[in-house]
Amino acid sequence: MNCSTFYFLLNNNAMNFRLILAAYFMCCWTVLSAQELYVPRNIKNAYQNETRSADGKPGKNYWQNKGAYQMDLQVDAETKVVTGTETITYSNNSPDTLKTLAIRFVNNLHKPEAPRSSYVSADFLSEGLTISNLNIGGETYPIDASDWGTVGTIKLNKAIMPKSHTTIEIAWSYPLSKQSGREGQIDSNTFYVAYSYPRVSVYDDYNGWDIIPHTDRGEFYNDFNDYTFTVKAPKNYVVWATGDLLNPDEVLQAPIASRLKQSYKSDEIIHIATAEEMKAGKVTTQQAWNVWRFKAEHIPDVCFALSNHYVWDASSVVVDSRTKRRASTQAAYNETSVDFVNSVKYSSYALAWFSNHWPGVPYPYSKMTAVQGFADMEYPMMVNDSETGNDAFGRFVQDHEIAHTYFPFYMGTNETRYAYMDEGWATTLEYLIALSYNDKKSADENYKNFRIKSYINDPSAEEDQPIISMSNQVSGVGYGRNSYGKASLSYLALKDLLGDELFKKALHTYMDNWNGKHPMPWDFFNSMNTGSAQDLNWFFQNWFFTNNYIDLKLESIEESSGSIPVRIRNIGGFAIPFDVLITFKDGTTETEHFTPAVWKDNSQDIKITLKTKGKAVKSILLDGGIFMDATPQDNLWEG
Ligand SMILES: [Zn+2]
Repeated sequence: MNCSTFYFLLNNNAMNFRLILAAYFMCCWTVLSAQELYVPRNIKNAYQNETRSADGKPGKNYWQNKGAYQMDLQVDAETKVVTGTETITYSNNSPDTLKTLAIRFVNNLHKPEAPRSSYVSADFLSEGLTISNLNIGGETYPIDASDWGTVGTIKLNKAIMPKSHTTIEIAWSYPLSKQSGREGQIDSNTFYVAYSYPRVSVYDDYNGWDIIPHTDRGEFYNDFNDYTFTVKAPKNYVVWATGDLLNPDEVLQAPIASRLKQSYKSDEIIHIATAEEMKAGKVTTQQAWNVWRFKAEHIPDVCFALSNHYVWDASSVVVDSRTKRRASTQAAYNETSVDFVNSVKYSSYALAWFSNHWPGVPYPYSKMTAVQGFADMEYPMMVNDSETGNDAFGRFVQDHEIAHTYFPFYMGTNETRYAYMDEGWATTLEYLIALSYNDKKSADENYKNFRIKSYINDPSAEEDQPIISMSNQVSGVGYGRNSYGKASLSYLALKDLLGDELFKKALHTYMDNWNGKHPMPWDFFNSMNTGSAQDLNWFFQNWFFTNNYIDLKLESIEESSGSIPVRIRNIGGFAIPFDVLITFKDGTTETEHFTPAVWKDNSQDIKITLKTKGKAVKSILLDGGIFMDATPQDNLWEG
């Protein structure tokens, strides 16, 4: 029974007073006994305004704004300058009158004046965005964007009223930086063109305009927009982009277009364009410029890459076993690459595996293209990954970037403030998919070495800041640990606590509630509580709102016949799962698993009883596996 049911009874059934009184006490007892999580004041307001709901769903007043982007972009391969024009139809679905408009242009990160999270070389720097025309609602704004950072705010002459839309026209240009990070010049004839257009920043129900500067760390927080765009590229340059290619026959020579279309229907890996064909001018239509047309809807971003010499592979894979829908998998890479030779094969495997196992939601897009660059960075339907010279490591990184399709793209999380809502999941999914094609020992070792070891072996206070801390307020290792390893461990601990079936049910409740929208951490907590039909706040409090770390200690053992009571202290505090490995004097062993549930009532000190079946015990070891212990030496008892 919930409280609103109680008030309904009170109003409508006064005769049953004793029943009501009992209901009242049950109701209030439930409320009082639940662990209350800290909720920031701005987010409390969102619940009060019913844009969010305590059951984990979007509230009855939930809204989000949207843009329909019609863009024409051009890349000059000689000058390395990107120019574009766009018309944005921006819908203000909020109840607020917008008197200002925040325009985001992430690539102003390259400006010397821009605040950045780390040092960059001179080749990274550029003059950033030039706006040659800005028109809002039919009115021209004579703005000078040279003093903009990664967000520029424009005071509107005519406010955008609630539940209305306006038209924004922008003409702009910017240079591709010589040093390529997440975008820029990969080589003198290969370019990764991301964050390439000025976009309306997010206006949301808990902060209003998102004007947090982009510092090269927190990545995405974008509205779900519709895009129709063209990329004008010189002849012999192939363009790979987010979205469906609408005009293959106009931009590709007939045999190449035919191979591409064939790849959409086949599991076979097809070499769409070989290095020789690229060199011989046998791939694109032979006119001075080709205009490539793309379309993608209800998606947080679009980007593209182009090259006049990259090799192009493609295949496709069924991502929805019910409808038999296929997604295209493509790769574009230098002919010398080791990692990318198997990229399409690994992409197809990843798309099918993520669709059918974890998170177990059909891949939501029509395409995935991996491009050899430098970033190890995800974009919707695209990844920009570096060459490592190691097929297995290249696969590991590609799996991680593809996993981001779900978090933050399908789920629309606010990565600037809550990076653990996507990096933590991508780290978890990269581990779970590795378990499907690697033996457990190597998947565990890789996860420990790459994600956990340096965290748990560093006693610095920076490592132990609460995960819930806003990601743009923690720097250095604090950012990295909270976003990746610790968050991932929290999700894996929760999976262990609930068991796979219930964990998936709860996770799908969260994903069904919020895909295509903007969830916050509290929407995740509430959705998981509802989806599991359990009050997990004790667990979320333990993992997200404390300075806990991982450190168990085997405190005392009392030997007795038949069973051994063991006292375990949780020095670090995290509610982790662990195994107890008993080695008997006759050489046999027994392993008993304990889920994080053992810490629910007492998170610091527990007693467990191990069965010995009358055998003499040689040693007892606490083993957290991937939940690596800060002081493993006190996890062992030897008799
Ligand atoms: Zn990531």
